[in-house]
Amino acid sequence: MEKIIIDAGHGGSDPGTVYNGRLEKNDNLRLALAVGNILSDHGVDVSYTRTTDVYHSPYEKAMIGNNSNADLFISIHRNAAQKPNTGTGIETLVYADKGIAGQLARNVNRELETTGFQNRGVIERPELTVLNRTVMPAILIEAGFLNNDSDNQRFDANLNQIAKAIADGILATLGSEPSKPEKIYRVQVGAYKNKDYANRLADRLKSDGFSAFVAYRDGYYRVQAGAFTNLDNAVNMERQLRRAGYDTFITS
Ligand SMILES: [Zn+2]
Repeated sequence: MEKIIIDAGHGGSDPGTVYNGRLEKNDNLRLALAVGNILSDHGVDVSYTRTTDVYHSPYEKAMIGNNSNADLFISIHRNAAQKPNTGTGIETLVYADKGIAGQLARNVNRELETTGFQNRGVIERPELTVLNRTVMPAILIEAGFLNNDSDNQRFDANLNQIAKAIADGILATLGSEPSKPEKIYRVQVGAYKNKDYANRLADRLKSDGFSAFVAYRDGYYRVQAGAFTNLDNAVNMERQLRRAGYDTFITS
């Protein structure tokens, strides 16, 4: 099962951006929990750096993430411009715009764009602690500007769609992750302590039209008639060998 850790930015004594009595830490937590609920519904194992209004330093947040053994670290924030109502839109920060983190950031931005936010793109911020001290691919999402009234309006009116967009971007990334090394199924026809016996069997297989080779492992010369990444193909080969009178079994 895939495991995700979600970090609601700031918390406790650190409110993040404050604008007209609105505290960033509260928006971050609301959105973080909403994203987590959607991911849980999709079978993802979700944990959080915080689920209440408590303070952790950015370094502590990164360590909570690392100790969770999650596959991805998702930090959720809201942006701020120098002057109110001058900045708008969403952006996602990464340590470096490459690999899974870059892909994840792009997927999240693309989905967030569908909720009506302007897409400000993927931005490299290598100096951020939650991005540079986490061991797994990590992103920091800026979900609109907290000191922009229309961004706040959109945030409040569409919180569930925004959460779903972030979750969809994460789920899309999990689906496109490079697959793990494939299992190899070997069709073994015989195993001998004596190398000559093994070679003789391999020769007989070859003269019967099968591919064969001898592999020495754990004290035995093992005669194999193929290696397959697809179990069906291995079973098919086994069937042909048995029809030709060979004893076989499949190892992986
Ligand atoms: Zn923030």
